[in-house]
Amino acid sequence: MQSNEIQVAILGAGPAGIFAALTLSQKKQFEVSLFDINPRPGRKFSQTGSGRCNITNMGIRSEDYFSGGDLSDFLERYPPEKIREVLSSFGIATIETEDGWVYPRSFSGINVTEILANRLTISSVNFFGRTKVHKLSMHGKRFHLDYFPKSSDFVNFDAVILASGSKAFPQLSADDSIFTSLSDLGIKCLPFRPALAGLLLRGKTFDALSGVRLDAEVTLLTRSKPVKTVFGNLIFTSRGVNGPAVMNISHLVADQKNVSCQLSINFLSNEAERFITKLFKASQHRSLPLRDLFLSCLPARLTDFILAKAGVSQETVCTDIEFGSFKKILNEFKTFQVPIQDVEGFRNSQCCCGGVSFEAFTLPEMESKQIPGLFFAGEMVDVNGPCGGYNLHWAIASGIAAAEGCIRRFLTF
Ligand SMILES: Cc1cc2nc3c(=O)[nH]c(=O)nc-3n(C[C@H](O)[C@H](O)[C@H](O)COP(=O)(O)OP(=O)(O)OC[C@H]3O[C@@H](n4cnc5c(N)ncnc54)[C@H](O)[C@@H]3O)c2cc1C
Repeated sequence: MQSNEIQVAILGAGPAGIFAALTLSQKKQFEVSLFDINPRPGRKFSQTGSGRCNITNMGIRSEDYFSGGDLSDFLERYPPEKIREVLSSFGIATIETEDGWVYPRSFSGINVTEILANRLTISSVNFFGRTKVHKLSMHGKRFHLDYFPKSSDFVNFDAVILASGSKAFPQLSADDSIFTSLSDLGIKCLPFRPALAGLLLRGKTFDALSGVRLDAEVTLLTRSKPVKTVFGNLIFTSRGVNGPAVMNISHLVADQKNVSCQLSINFLSNEAERFITKLFKASQHRSLPLRDLFLSCLPARLTDFILAKAGVSQETVCTDIEFGSFKKILNEFKTFQVPIQDVEGFRNSQCCCGGVSFEAFTLPEMESKQIPGLFFAGEMVDVNGPCGGYNLHWAIASGIAAAEGCIRRFLTF
C-alpha cells in the first residue's frame, strides 16, 4: 500500500530524471518512484562525450540553444557553476578544459552513472528498471500510470515528472511512445527532428576524403543563401560529413523539406592563408611544388582532392603560375561547395529538436500550464543545444528545476 507521503512518479532515468529524483528525495515528505526501460539508470548518460561525459559548459548562453523560447532567466537561475556545485554535492568532481567544456574529473560517464545510481538507492528512490510506462492518464486530480511489469502498490501519483528523452539514438533505448498519452491529454507537442547529426552528401566523389579530419569554417546555404556559419572540427565519412562543425547546423537542414541545401567549406584559417601566400611569394625564384604550400597547413588527401578539382596537377611548381591563378586556387580551398542530400536519421543524431512545446509549460517550474502537478524535464521538451555540454546541462538543470517546481507546488514554507 502507498503511504501518506506525496507520491511522485518520474518517467525516465536519464540525467533529467535522475537529478529530479535526487532533488525531490531530499524532502522527506515525498516518496519518489523512478521508471526506466533500462535495467540501470543513465544508460545514454554513461555513453556521452565518447564515454568522457561532457557534462556542462562554462560559456553557456541562451542564444546558443536551438529552442522554442528564451532561456536567459532560467540559465541565470541554473548556471554551470550551480550544476557543478550540485554534482560535487553528490560526490562528482568536475574539471574545465581551456575552452570551457566541463567533464567529470574521472572523464568517465560510467563512473558518474554508477555514483548517481548508488545515491538513488541511498536516497530511498524506488527504482523500477526494465519497466516500460505505456500510458499516463488522469484519475480525478491524480495521475495513473500503466506500466509493465506492473507493481500494484505504485500506480496512482500526486505528481508526475516526465523526463523520457527524445527519439535520438534508439540503440540506447530512446522511446517516444509516451507522447501518445500527452496528445490524449491535449498537451501541445512538436514532431521530433534529428539534431546534432552528421550530413549525407550527394554523389560518391567524397569517398576519396573519407577519414579526413580538420578544423574548418562551415556555412549552410539554403537556396544558395547563407543561413548559418559554424567553426569547428569536421570529419569526412564515406557518406558525408560529421563532427561538431556540421552537427551544430544539422537541425537547420532537418527543418528544410524539399529545399536545396549546400555546404560551403573554408578549409583555410586567415593565419593559414597568410602563411601559404607568404610561401608562394617567397618561392617565385625556386621550383617549389605548389602542393607543398598546402601540405604545410592541410591534410594531403584534402590537398590532392581540391587541387585535382581545380585542374592543377601534382607536378605543378610555384613558378609555373601567376599570382592571380594562385589566388583562384587558394579560393577553391576557401569556398568548397557540396550539395547536401539529407541529415542522418535518429539513429545517428545525438539529440532532437521538437517535443513538448515551450507554450505548454512554465519556466522555471517546468510545470504543465494545463495540468497542475505534471512536470517536464530534459530533452523531451523543445530545447536542445550545440555540442559542448549544453544538452546535459539542460537535462540536469531542468530536472532539478522540475523537482523544485514540484516541491513548491506541494510544500508551503
Ligand atoms: C552518443 C551520444 C553522445 C552524447 N554526448 C553528449 C555530451 O557529451 N554532452 C552533452 O551535453 N550531451 C550529449 N548527448 C546528449 C545527451 O545525452 C542528452 O541530451 C541527454 O541524455 C538527455 O537527457 P534526458 O534525461 O532528457 O533523456 P535520456 O537521457 O534520453 O533519458 C530518458 C530515459 O527515459 C527512458 N524512457 C523513455 N520512454 C520511456 C517509457 N515509456 N517508459 C520507461 N522509460 C522510458 C529512456 O529509455 C531513457 O533511459 C549525447 C547523446 C548521444 C546519443
